[in-house]
Amino acid sequence: MPQRLKEIQKQIFSRINSVEATKLVQDMVKIKSVNPPGNEDAMAIYLEKKMKEIGLEVHLDECLPGRSNVIGHLKGTVGYPTLMLNGHLDIVPPGDKRLWSFDPFGGVLKDGRIYGRGSADMKAGLASILLASKAIKLSGIQLKGDLMLTGVIDEEVTGLGAQELIRREKAADMVIVAEPTELNPVRAHKGLVFFEISTIGKAIHSSRVSSKWNKGEVNAIYQMGKVLIKIQEYLVNLEKKVDPLVGSPTISVGTITGGSKTNIVPDRCTITVDRRLLPSETIEDAKAEMENILQQLHKEDPRIKTNLKIIVSRRGAITNPDEPIVRLSKEAAEEVLGKDVEVTGSPATSDMEVFMNQRCIPTVLLGPGSLSMAHIIDEYVEVDQIVDAAKIFVIIALKTLG
Ligand SMILES: [Zn+2]
Repeated sequence: MPQRLKEIQKQIFSRINSVEATKLVQDMVKIKSVNPPGNEDAMAIYLEKKMKEIGLEVHLDECLPGRSNVIGHLKGTVGYPTLMLNGHLDIVPPGDKRLWSFDPFGGVLKDGRIYGRGSADMKAGLASILLASKAIKLSGIQLKGDLMLTGVIDEEVTGLGAQELIRREKAADMVIVAEPTELNPVRAHKGLVFFEISTIGKAIHSSRVSSKWNKGEVNAIYQMGKVLIKIQEYLVNLEKKVDPLVGSPTISVGTITGGSKTNIVPDRCTITVDRRLLPSETIEDAKAEMENILQQLHKEDPRIKTNLKIIVSRRGAITNPDEPIVRLSKEAAEEVLGKDVEVTGSPATSDMEVFMNQRCIPTVLLGPGSLSMAHIIDEYVEVDQIVDAAKIFVIIALKTLG
């Protein structure tokens, strides 16, 4: 690295500190941007204020009533690329608060860790983005390209915020989503389809049933039993497919409801199913495979009638390993951490798929905190990782934006 760049970098790094990192994450953990229902606006306003303090050009963009994305620009010169640093404003609910060792919205600091819902996923990532851009701005360096900071709504449910962002804003040339990856660049993730499957039976008084099912009854719960066995067998087949970055596709039944009364043969039983997709699998593929399974069952027993519905779907994503953003993310992480860093894949979905699948923008996930901390009781993030992530973002911004 040229000596001058090294000095500039050192000077910028000196402006990133753990006290400010801690304060930012604690502030944000105290903002209950729980989704559902989607209370992101206080987070959007907080980020808007912080970005304005830094000196960015900022605006809010309302996607749904009272639910806004926040967009900030550290403007470069026209004609150079734009790097977007992105994060989501929403968090999942804390679950049973009695199970937490600390207040999930308290932002307690203990032994170098900040505890709270959303600390790792992903208010720490948002803090790192702010710290990096503030340090760059304060250094007085004029970047050639645009540094774009975005906080989006509804990542935890539909990805609507990211979808609206790319529909309404000028596209970036590359994106880093600061999801918790323990500072490892992630260039692929799985997709998901949530199905609802119902079996439709025929109710009669339960005192009249016969093992030959010849009284006109069709027990929807028994029928669902056959569906459940097929789904378990299907998982065995799915596990035969292996992707080197994200592993195997999966399927899991999450809920079941059926019947209305003990003395009535149930005429309806419903399950919800979580199918995780490889980046190479489409939502249509997954639906067709599930339809096949249900048709096969119907062939084996024509009395089995089913309904299949998709409730939620998000595609998987994969960025080409030769993209500069992948290489630079790895190099920057190795420089800051002083060790070899592996480019990996993630089993969890994210807004990366929106940027990749809808706009083909090369995207990497990279941020502080561990995915194993996301959505769990006693979620925490290590302060050191927030500081390191900010430094990594600085290096990537200097190298991509000049
Ligand atoms: Zn997340």
